[in-house]
Amino acid sequence: MTITPLMPVYPRCGVRPVRGDHCHLIGEDGTRYLDFASGIAVNALGHSNEHLISTIQHQAATLMHVSNLYGSPQGESIAQRLIDLTFADTVFFTNSGAEAVECAIKTARSYHQHQGNTDRYELITFNNAFHGRTMATISASNQDKMHKGFAPMLSGFKYAPFDDLAAAEALIGPHTAGFLVEPIQGEGGVRDASSEFIKGLRALCDQHDLMLILDEVQCGVARTGSLYAYEQYGVEPDILATAKGIGGGFPLGACLATEKAARGMVIGAHGSTYGGNPLAMAAAGAVLDVVANQPFLDNVQAMGARLRARLEQFIGNYPEMFELVRGKGLMLGVKLRIEPRAFVAHLRDNHQLLLVAAGDQTMRVLPPLVIDDSHIDEFMNKLSEGTASFQVKDAAA
Ligand code: PLP
Repeated sequence: MTITPLMPVYPRCGVRPVRGDHCHLIGEDGTRYLDFASGIAVNALGHSNEHLISTIQHQAATLMHVSNLYGSPQGESIAQRLIDLTFADTVFFTNSGAEAVECAIKTARSYHQHQGNTDRYELITFNNAFHGRTMATISASNQDKMHKGFAPMLSGFKYAPFDDLAAAEALIGPHTAGFLVEPIQGEGGVRDASSEFIKGLRALCDQHDLMLILDEVQCGVARTGSLYAYEQYGVEPDILATAKGIGGGFPLGACLATEKAARGMVIGAHGSTYGGNPLAMAAAGAVLDVVANQPFLDNVQAMGARLRARLEQFIGNYPEMFELVRGKGLMLGVKLRIEPRAFVAHLRDNHQLLLVAAGDQTMRVLPPLVIDDSHIDEFMNKLSEGTASFQVKDAAA
């Protein structure tokens, strides 16, 4: 037998973390890494956060799981907190980002079909989007590499260029149910949509009675310096998918919706065995305790501005290697003039700095939201040493 015990769908690298310590990860062999990837925007509170640990431990000892057939005081309380903090009137809890997007797609379709518009099922999505790896969420993306081997895709999706309002409008037809968009594309290369684009999509939805679904799985939960990125665009969605940071490392997602948008989500319409169980709700409560307040959000903005300024100053020294910095808050991307994977691997293997490569020749800088100036200093030192040694290596090759 040659297949590995873990189904070989990930190109796993040599880093084998066994312990976390705030903004650092410690490998099986004792190597200490600066973690500016945060499990791809998941570990919002860093690793080994005392409040998150003690809350989960306490809940684990009290009640871990009950069926959604019973009343859920824990779920009601976290749903109400999310409702109070956002545009939403109702929440469905899931276990992952893809499931949150799945629920969002079903909510948008059912909004129309519940009123008898059975031919309004199509969502307009955007080039290079990433919405997850289930059949519906890969169908919602036009990235061929994710479709390969899984044909046929689900029907009901049309793709427009990202940030191109006229192209999105041109795709509206009799079957259109709404738009599904990441305000800041993550996997696509940390590309933030313009405010005209997001506002324009909102206006089109109002004009044509369409659903605006925001996928904030990566950019939500304080990552950009507001609890959700849409707040910075000055519009509200009808439906929003959140996950990653919301559990701080505990698997959790949620689909948030207005009462109007959720009118088709009636008894029996959707479900999840684990979604919103007491343990997951405890994790979400602990995360919200820490991030859902203005001083914390202000600090994310301040750290993001400082990190970005340092990065912008630094990349100016290497114009042949780096093109620009983009993103919002602590969701930053550095666009390279070279393929980023080799550079990300070099920083990881030789300088113990963890980042994530993304599309459009970009490397993602996604630190825990609890970094301070010492972590920015450490990051800049590693990046600076790593860039110099990469160039020497490159010249020798
Ligand atoms: N949507 C976006 C924007 C994401 O970045 C991701 C994951 O990276 C997902 C959806 C899917 O989330 P999950 O991997 O938890 O299913």
